[in-house]
Amino acid sequence: MPWSVRLRAARLTVDALRKRILSSDEPCHDLLSRENIEAELSSRAAGLLSPSLKPVINATGVVVHTNLGRSPLPEPVLDVIARVAKGYCNLEYNLEKGERGSRYSHVEDLLRELTGAEAALVVNNNAAAVLITLETLARDREVVVSRGELVEIGGSFRIPDVMARSGALLREVGATNRTHLRDYAGAIGDQTALLMKVHQSNFQIVGFTRSVSVRELAKLGAKHGIPVFEDLGSGNFVDFTRFGMLHEPTVQEALEAGADIVSFSGDKLLGGPQAGIILGKRKYIDKIKTNPLNRAVRIDKLTLAALEQVLRFYREPENAVKQLPVLKMLTMPYAALKERAESLRQLLDGLGLNGASIDTADTVSRVGGGALPLQELRSRAVRVRVTDPKKISISKIEAGLRAHDPPVITRMEDNAILMDMRTVREEEKDIITSAFSRIWP
Ligand SMILES: *Cc1c(COP(=O)(O)O)cnc(C)c1O
Repeated sequence: MPWSVRLRAARLTVDALRKRILSSDEPCHDLLSRENIEAELSSRAAGLLSPSLKPVINATGVVVHTNLGRSPLPEPVLDVIARVAKGYCNLEYNLEKGERGSRYSHVEDLLRELTGAEAALVVNNNAAAVLITLETLARDREVVVSRGELVEIGGSFRIPDVMARSGALLREVGATNRTHLRDYAGAIGDQTALLMKVHQSNFQIVGFTRSVSVRELAKLGAKHGIPVFEDLGSGNFVDFTRFGMLHEPTVQEALEAGADIVSFSGDKLLGGPQAGIILGKRKYIDKIKTNPLNRAVRIDKLTLAALEQVLRFYREPENAVKQLPVLKMLTMPYAALKERAESLRQLLDGLGLNGASIDTADTVSRVGGGALPLQELRSRAVRVRVTDPKKISISKIEAGLRAHDPPVITRMEDNAILMDMRTVREEEKDIITSAFSRIWP
């Protein structure tokens, strides 16, 4: 074991013991026994030696779970990543001409083919896509945005702040609940660089509302020679109403409606790797491409390899739904979820856990990733309740599952553990079962 690990494990152990002694009113002889100190040391050392970033089982039912890595990738995509990662590749090398090529060429034609866009560019993520688009097209000039669309996505991504960082001047129009076309029209002047529309993502304004469609904005923009940029947030190529879900505007619809530039994430509803995709008119995309910032936010070769393969699936949308885990999970029929829940319940029942009752119950899964915030997906969960609190508590079970390897992330609701089957893979049922048997006192 490396000395640095021994040293850190020793320091962490001493710190932890000191804290416990100071906070305890009782004598601490047991804590300081040789066995206990050795056990503490070796468990800390083992923790330091195992990878920090590791797979977890997502039993929360939130499909595009930002904290849990958003979008799982399927086997064929992993194969492509491994093939490209292992050796050299033609990342920026034109094999036909035997000279320097462009890294964007690998997905540009595919994106145009799939969406009908004139040109395409991919960057590190959608936040970068928005930043570089604003910096390129609107620095020191005005961007007109509705007050109802000044979104905070989470973390530190807020439209007004990103706008400020890009050097563009935010020109807010309308009211929180209602913005009219005449509001945009009234704000247009010789300083106007862009009309911008932002997908509301994680919230919706209901009641007495009015917003302006991309189509209306595009007409207004065309009249004044001002481009329209839509940040679609999640961005998707398939119409979710086909699966009985709420409507989420597709990338193709936004372009067809006349948006000059659209941007969206690769790892939200699209179900691919983390990326920011920018599509639109060539004259704008070319400008963004040559912005020096582009080098700072560029996409790496492994992501590019994954993205190309994911995009290939979308040539046949039925195939994308079959291949991509995010789409598969979102469209999973209730009957299949019910069956999966029943099968896990039986496995857990077989353990004969003392002091717990296990059943299945209806629950609601969420899309996550700031997409379709109002969409409720009817799902089925396995529910674990404690019948003998002296034996174990709900929060101990939750923490025990979280500390398991691999960790099982669950939901606590009404003093019960809920495991939504929508985000649990078939082969993970056995791992969950063994986690329960290990943590049970
Ligand atoms: C999620 C989101 C972003 C940020 O995208 P990332 O890929 O997470 O960087 C930007 N704008 C909107 C509207 C979003 O929903």
